[in-house]
This record gives sequence, C-alpha cells and structure tokens, in this order.
Amino acid sequence: MIKKFIERVFGPKKARKPTAAKERIFAQAEHGIRREELSNAAISVCEGLHRAGYKAFVVGGAVRDLLLGRHPKDYDVATDATPEQVRSVFRRARIIGRRFKLVHVMFRDETVEVSTFRANHPAVDADEKDGRADEHGRLLRDNVYGNQAEDAIRRDFTMNALFYDPESEEVWDYVNGFADIKKQRVVMIGDPTARYREDPVRMLRAARLAAKLGFMIDPATEAPIVELAPLLDNVPTARLFDEMLKLLFSGHALNGIEKLRSLGLHAGILPVLDALFNDPAAKAFVVLALQRTDERIAQDKGVSPPFLFAALFWWPMVQRWRALEAKGVRSLQAMHESMDDVLDIQRKTLAVPRRLDPLIKELWLAQPRFAHRSQKQAFRTLTHPRFRASYDFYALRAEADDADKEIAAWWERFQFADPQTQESMLLPDDEPKTKKRRRRKRKADEGGGEVAMNSAEAPGTEGAS
Ligand code: ATP
Ligand code: MG
Repeated sequence: MIKKFIERVFGPKKARKPTAAKERIFAQAEHGIRREELSNAAISVCEGLHRAGYKAFVVGGAVRDLLLGRHPKDYDVATDATPEQVRSVFRRARIIGRRFKLVHVMFRDETVEVSTFRANHPAVDADEKDGRADEHGRLLRDNVYGNQAEDAIRRDFTMNALFYDPESEEVWDYVNGFADIKKQRVVMIGDPTARYREDPVRMLRAARLAAKLGFMIDPATEAPIVELAPLLDNVPTARLFDEMLKLLFSGHALNGIEKLRSLGLHAGILPVLDALFNDPAAKAFVVLALQRTDERIAQDKGVSPPFLFAALFWWPMVQRWRALEAKGVRSLQAMHESMDDVLDIQRKTLAVPRRLDPLIKELWLAQPRFAHRSQKQAFRTLTHPRFRASYDFYALRAEADDADKEIAAWWERFQFADPQTQESMLLPDDEPKTKKRRRRKRKADEGGGEVAMNSAEAPGTEGAS
C-alpha cells in the first residue's frame, strides 16, 4: 500500500544508477591526440560555445577513434548549454529530435551533433524503447539534463564516455575508459544487466563495436547477453534495422555477423543466418558478399544496401522458388512469389524498408538473363540501367561457384569490348520465335522458360530456409 503510494508520487523504483568516480584528466602528452586531427567543424563548435561562456567537449565515438589513431566517422559535442542556447550561438543550427532535443550545427558540408549534458533516466529510456514520444516522455525529458559526470555514466561503454577539450587539449575520463581503450576492451558502464534492460540495443552495439575495433568484450559485459538476447524482440524493428545497417556497412561486416552469431544476437534479427552458415555453399556465397562489402568500404568505394540484402536473402529465395517450381508453378511466377514471400518473412524480424524491394528484386530477376547471350538478349541485358550491379551480383555468385564462371568471364569481356569484338562474341539466338516453339522449349527445359537458369548455376536445395 505504502509502496504503491510512494510509487505513484515518486514514480517506480529507479534502477541502481552507476556512480561516477572523480574524473581523471589526461594532458596532450599522455593521450597523444593532435588537435589538427579533428575536423574544423568540431573545433569551431567547441570554440563557439566556449566564447559564449559554456563548456564544450568532443565526446563519444570520435574521442575513442582518435585515441586509437582512427579517423572518426562523425563528431558529437557535449555541452552544458541547453539546445536553445546552442542554437543561438550559431548561424546555421537547428534543433532536432522529439524525445531528446539535439542541435545540428552545420559548417560547410559537415554537421556536428551537439547534445546537452544529460543524466541517465531509466523511465525515459523505457519510453524510448517503446518508441513512444508522449507527454510523459517529454515532461521527463526536461528533468534529465545533468552535469558532465552524469553525462559520462549515462553512456553505454567506458570507451565511449571520454571528453576531449580542443582548447585545453585535455581528455576527461570519469569511468576508466582511457585504460579500457588501451586494454582494447568493451566494458559496460554500471551494471551490464541493468543497462541492457534499459536499452537492449546496447547488446548489438557491443557486438558491432567489438567487431569494428577488434576489441574483446569484457567477460562481465558479455556474460548477460546470451540470456538477455530475446529482449531485442521488444525493440522497434526500424531501430534494429538502423543498427544492422551500421554493422553491415561498418567495414567489418563479416566480423560483426560472426560476433552476432557467437553471442546469439542474430536469432531475433537475421535468423536466416543459421541456415546460411550451416550450408557450406550458401555460407561461401554470403561470406564472399560480406568480404566484398568490407573491401569496398576499405577502398572508399560506394556500397549498396539492396545489393547486400539481395545477397543475404538469395539462397532462401532460390530454394523457395525451386520448391514452387517443383509443385508445378511456372518458373517466372514461382520466382515472383518466392521473392515476395522471402522479403515479407525477413521483414518481420529485420525491417528492410519496402522501398528497397524493387531494387533487390531487380538484381534477382536479372540473374537468369546472363545465360542468354544472343544478339537480341545480350544487348538488352547490357543496356539495362542496372546492368553493372546485376553483373556484379552474377560475378559474385560465379566466384562462389553458384553461377557459371565461363559465362561470368564472357560478360566481363563483352561489356568492355569494341562493337566488332562484341559482334563476334554473340551466340546464336536461343529465344524461340513462335509461341508454339516457346511452349515446347519450356517443357524441354523442365519448367525453365524465360527465367530458367541451367542447373549448374542453381544453388543447392539444402540448408537455407
Ligand atoms: P560509431 O563509430 O559507430 O559512430 P559511436 O560510439 O560514435 O560509434 P553513435 O551511435 O554515434 O556511436 O553514438 C555516439 C555516442 O552516444 C556513443 O559513443 C555513446 O557515448 C552514446 N550512445 C550511443 N548509443 C547509446 C546507447 N544505446 N546507450 C547509451 N549511450 C549511447
Ligand atoms: Mg558516432
């Protein structure tokens, strides 16, 4: 009774908060970050806030990356100024966010995200988890601004809670993050179980950052994950998708996927991985696709989410397609049904946006066309706007022994050959002229028809479901 009354007045009992030790301050000679390594925009934002009388530090992943000699992807600044105060300091700045206001400050083509020091507040995190931005959440939000020490301990891992002041060139550490970075360890701030419960996405972040940085996850930070992994089911799928995109395009996708699997985190997001990794041929293809993605990122080349998703879901799609064909569904129709089914199934766990569907399907639909190399068909394939991506997909399959290597080599030559050579490379027309002949041919192809692939290029039928 009394407990209920107290809860009504003061809110539910709060999870035990981690407490910050006194900060340690590292001078430039100790941490070694050179000011010139930072982006001008990040320095300008800190300087602008300092001039206006506020505290301002570069914080989070950027400090971690700089300490590791890596180039930060983007910069976050933390300050004691409120979002409105931050906005008034800069010419090009806008407040974003509903639950937590942040300020985006623009300098030329760079955006720096500025957040006000904040304290951890489980009730607000719970709201965030449900994706509810109601009055309640907003009211609480005003109460969660905190001081710098509180801002440090509301962060996820110790390596992500360091503050760098470009003016004094000091690194401020409240959570022993500096030492953990030196030890290459992912260590949760506070009680790992409680922090994962507050926000289960932190489990994915642990896996992703460990893979990206080549760090080990501290045993106490890793231990609760196996048991808590199912909590990801309660996270809005759109947020899981964002986090998976970060993992897949971190430049360490293969490591990341392996880490997810070893921690049992993939079950609620990409359950298809089990089937893929249990089938040697399917695994070879997926591993190659992930490696290529990592290589392209290392070389600063563009990467395409539809391409990678097409690769991840290719095997289940082909299996379903074959199964439908075996039931007597015509090949093209079977392929369309299979594509829709597979994309819908995957969408239930990983919210791949529907707008990617046509792009993924386009890559798949193009695959059988590479077998046809007559005058009419070869040029139709070659002049298709998405030829390059479709061909890359075919070449990847060939490399993984899932498509005909000779055909892949033919297309590699054909696309760059001069018109005369191209002409000489063409094969006889393999498309029947009359409906009658087409029908006959389809029968002969055992349900092949227009989209038939020869059996040598069709993947096996076990494993990936
Ligand atoms: P990346 O290199 O991928 O950008 P990051 O650590 O910078 O890694 P961000 O998503 O950019 O990741 O987050 C910036 C900072 O915000 C983190 O370093 C961390 O301090 C804090 N943070 C992000 N997500 C969480 C979370 N779920 N819980 C607590 N703190 C978080
Ligand atoms: Mg970041």
